[in-house]
Amino acid sequence: MKSYTLISNGYYGKFGGAYIPELLFNNVDELQKSYKKIIASAEFQKKFKGLLKDYVGRPTPLYYSEALSEKYKARIFMKREDLNHTGAHKINNALGQALLAKMMGKQKIVAETGAGQHGVATATACTLLGLSCVVFMGETDIARQAPNVARMKMLGATVIPSLSGTKTLKDATNDAIRYWINHAADTHYIIGSVVGPHPYPDMVTRFQSIISKEIKIQLRKQTGESEPDYVIACVGGGSNAAGAFYHFLNSKKTKLVGAEAAGKGVHTHETAATLTIGSVGIIHGAKTYLMQNGDGQITEPYSISAGLDYPGIGPLHAFLHESKQATYLAITDLEALAAARELIHLDGIIPALESAHAFAVLPKMKFRPTDIVVINLSGRGDKDMEAYLKFIL
Ligand SMILES: *Cc1c(COP(=O)(O)O)cnc(C)c1O
Repeated sequence: MKSYTLISNGYYGKFGGAYIPELLFNNVDELQKSYKKIIASAEFQKKFKGLLKDYVGRPTPLYYSEALSEKYKARIFMKREDLNHTGAHKINNALGQALLAKMMGKQKIVAETGAGQHGVATATACTLLGLSCVVFMGETDIARQAPNVARMKMLGATVIPSLSGTKTLKDATNDAIRYWINHAADTHYIIGSVVGPHPYPDMVTRFQSIISKEIKIQLRKQTGESEPDYVIACVGGGSNAAGAFYHFLNSKKTKLVGAEAAGKGVHTHETAATLTIGSVGIIHGAKTYLMQNGDGQITEPYSISAGLDYPGIGPLHAFLHESKQATYLAITDLEALAAARELIHLDGIIPALESAHAFAVLPKMKFRPTDIVVINLSGRGDKDMEAYLKFIL
């Protein structure tokens, strides 16, 4: 049986915590002390719920796919996070944290972004709420993700290139942290997934838990059951999966399945399958699984999908993996592309490459015909057209 309990000190079993430099202590301490009280307040809840409904477009539909159900001999539903404003689940968290920052009296937001999806969601939330926004992005990523850089700039964000290291996400993260230390009084740091020091993993999980809250209600209406047999989601840092799993964490019935990115294969050096090939260490302020060499140096991850291309994983997932309360499968680039092709042809939906990894779990499972399966369709594929044009057409 699953035995999830809400953390009070920032640990999920032995994972999580807040392993931070002295200079960050005040920032993180202030956040730890205030986040739960503000989120629970009537004022926050009223504003957040209103924005999720009328601005983001929630509740997102729970769609029953006849074609996938027939093919995989089970009752297959998908949660349509791809229909959110800005195209993915990330806006749920960006809006929640921007609202929290405002109620903490902050005027400025700093964020890091890899592919630019979290940067766009954050810039959007800041524009809406009248906060100024600085986004750090590796110079290499800026060159690779021009449309998202343009979106952030149009939305009024200042995009600052990170010039150190490999000029990618981890370097942008270091720069964002440094900026936060130097501007603590008026600035909040919005992290885009269930990673980082406590309270970020718990806070981001709470903002994304709206996904499983809606699934429960919608499933009951559509099937008479409020708990599915399976929930399947892709895992980069793990926020869409954490949100989709949250209200089923103590269910005796629901099996939870995460899909991490195997890239070109878990036995190649081009992979991002953290739980499959990683080991325990500390990354970005939390104790969790990460990809590292014998000297404890973080190794460069690879996946066809930029959103899954992260060398760590949220501590909640490390805990669920080690305690066998969830199962994590490694999905290769080619398996994800095949799953995307199938979803496009059967249902007319072009998924984000990240989300395609979750659909690639289907052919690996053995379902009973009565099984109810919910797949979290975390985002839409507009941003991935270049890869699709190269590999699918
Ligand atoms: C960023 C992203 C992900 C990966 O992030 P998680 O925190 O693991 O959810 C997955 N899907 C989409 C569409 C994304 O944009």
